[in-house]
Amino acid sequence: MKRIAIFPGSFDPFTKGHEDIVLRSLSLFDEVIVAIGFNSSKNKRYFEIDFMVDKIKTTFKETPQVSVLVYNELTATLADKVGANFLLRGLRNTTDFEYENSISQVNRHLNNDLETVFLITSPVFSSVSSTIIREVHRYGGDVQEFLPYEL
Ligand code: ADP
Repeated sequence: MKRIAIFPGSFDPFTKGHEDIVLRSLSLFDEVIVAIGFNSSKNKRYFEIDFMVDKIKTTFKETPQVSVLVYNELTATLADKVGANFLLRGLRNTTDFEYENSISQVNRHLNNDLETVFLITSPVFSSVSSTIIREVHRYGGDVQEFLPYEL
């Protein structure tokens, strides 16, 4: 059976920290789906959804095991639909851990076949966060070095 993982997140924007998690996970999974959670009537994104889908596709153009989609439903339901048995998440620190711990329990409750797999961030990316990148970009700072594609 193919090992398919979903990497869910807001990816606003997708960073080199995210890219690192996806690339390292390819030693565990046959296929990884980067799934951007987005509800057009509720979410206010900083980077447009279509723009980010394009950039993620560009990032992985040489890596056919990685695909991108946008979803607006429970992650556990999406996993069921696309035949994924794994959720991939990254952990940077204890704050991530506290949050990830509870959502992984809930996802397991919603879909008993779904196992969450955590990869610890590579130290060089441990301080890279989408929130900080948005703030720096908003005020005109250069964020290119944190992104795996040209802005
Ligand atoms: P969410 O909105 O669900 O928190 P994000 O887009 O911020 O999603 O992040 C998606 C996943 O990537 C989360 O598991 C998050 O902890 C992880 N992540 C974010 N930045 C990094 C990083 N620099 N290194 C490793 N993992 C990261």
